[in-house]
Amino acid sequence: MPDEQSDAPTPTVEERYKGIPVSPGIAIGPLVLLYADEHIIRKRRIRPEDVAGEIARFEAALLKTRQQIQVIRNELASSIGEEDASIFDAHILLLEDTSLIESVKEQLVSRLVNVDFAYEQVVRSYTRKMRELDDDYFRERAGDFLDVSRRVLRNLQGKVDAELRNLDVASVVLAHDLSPSDTAGMDRKLVLGLATEAGSRTSHSAIMARSLNLPAVVGLRELIGKFEPGVEVLLDGYEGLLIVNPTDQTKHEYGQREKIHEAVEVKLDALRETLPVTLDQRRIIVSANVEIMEDLPLIKEHGAEGVGLLRTEYLFLNQNESPTEDQQVEMYREMARACQPHHIIIRTLDVGGDKKRPHLGIEQEVNPFLGFRGIRYSLGRPDIFRTQLRAICRASAEGNVRVMFPMVCDLSELKAARRLIDEVREELRQQNIPQAEKIEVGVMIEVPSAALTADILARHVDFFSIGSNDLIQYTLAIDRGNENVSAMYQPAHPAVLRLMQTVVEAAHRNNIWVGVCGEMAADVILVPALIGLGVDELSAGAASIPRIKRAIQSLNYEEARQLVARCVLNESAEANQAELEQMARRLYPEIL
Ligand code: PEP
Ligand code: MG
Repeated sequence: MPDEQSDAPTPTVEERYKGIPVSPGIAIGPLVLLYADEHIIRKRRIRPEDVAGEIARFEAALLKTRQQIQVIRNELASSIGEEDASIFDAHILLLEDTSLIESVKEQLVSRLVNVDFAYEQVVRSYTRKMRELDDDYFRERAGDFLDVSRRVLRNLQGKVDAELRNLDVASVVLAHDLSPSDTAGMDRKLVLGLATEAGSRTSHSAIMARSLNLPAVVGLRELIGKFEPGVEVLLDGYEGLLIVNPTDQTKHEYGQREKIHEAVEVKLDALRETLPVTLDQRRIIVSANVEIMEDLPLIKEHGAEGVGLLRTEYLFLNQNESPTEDQQVEMYREMARACQPHHIIIRTLDVGGDKKRPHLGIEQEVNPFLGFRGIRYSLGRPDIFRTQLRAICRASAEGNVRVMFPMVCDLSELKAARRLIDEVREELRQQNIPQAEKIEVGVMIEVPSAALTADILARHVDFFSIGSNDLIQYTLAIDRGNENVSAMYQPAHPAVLRLMQTVVEAAHRNNIWVGVCGEMAADVILVPALIGLGVDELSAGAASIPRIKRAIQSLNYEEARQLVARCVLNESAEANQAELEQMARRLYPEIL
């Protein structure tokens, strides 16, 4: 007799999980789980009788991967041509490498471990050997190999078939972490919100979510295994909540809250055309940080004065190979045009750290944030760097283009980069290719050694832009993307403020301007500290611009200066944070 209960829907219970709010907004929709990271592959012992089942799972995953690669290959062949699509033929060859498949099967039998683990171990050992070979071709193939294996691992993990660029219904995405290349390539119309187990306010996935105007919550810790895909969730990017199976009552309450938020946004919208000037007439430039071409309309929509930071690496991360010189010229030109009459500051490639793609050929490093990153990568890959510099110089013929270098640690790096620009400009002249008469060159101050030698660097550049995200990370020795230490990531720490003070004073003594383009600039609680330090420009995600303007317009520069004078002498970040919050609550409570 059939069980009468069996078809009844399981009653759902609302569950709430608290994380770190990093991008405001509310999203409701089905949940998609994205298991992408190799490090969540766990070792599991199996019994000898399980081996056949594991092999079957492996073969099914290989087959599925082959089909997926074939689909991408065919799509690419029809959009960009057979030749470029052929890279995926090479992927299929790597996928079906018989010696690798045999090694995995052999491990299953000899070590009695789960196939995901065995496969990952074999891939690691293969890629290590490929990278050790003294042959560029094989070293590059190691990156392709990792790309293919990541796909196989996703398929092996069963639940795993979501990919941000392949969603079919609008969903809220929950991932362990999202790499910049995941977010750069996602289908924005189908992603309603982003939730991650890892991450913090300044991790790149958080920055990207804000730039895309997507509600996002990070640092939710171990959650993924708890839910089935498709379950309804509500993501609250204001308070940092992921609500699973929200009740009707919860949804209704959130509907009301959204109306209030919308009303504040409408008021802020009116600030678009106004100037960011303090009550005592100190004029600040407020410009936008931009990651992708789709951000362009937002620059004017939110009233930014041009672009203070173009993170060009995202143009390299959302595809399988680096854009050519001509492709880059096109993109930079279009951006320069969108900024007119204002400027655009093009930051040269800042890859490394967590920003990687196989085609960039960056090896696995133990400490990637202290490794082959930013200007170090560019100087180590002059082929890529020269191409980018040529493209930037060519685009300068179209608008007010400035260039700046990331992660500079000392003068020798800056000089080497400047030398390359000079060479590239001379080359263009020889070839009669138009470029601007003058291109301002700046440097990011995001490493303590650069901050402490700012007086030296200032003599060699036209401007500074403080990258507070990294400056805080390197000053306080707190990984900016690690949720376990995110409470210790303290922008208002006296050490951070003192370093910034050194930088601003060095800039002004040398008659150059100094901006801040890290997330501190977008935090209206911290804005009085930056203004009080004497910063001339703030650059932040376009959506934050109206709030920043409102904060500046409510401030008195002299009062902010006195506040900073106290903060650099205070004993703790907490004391500074409290003073700053008090000021913000007094002057502009409605935007907090
Ligand atoms: C920074 O470090 O503050 C910065 C703006 O650069 P990114 O966040 O891209 O590292
Ligand atoms: Mg940085």
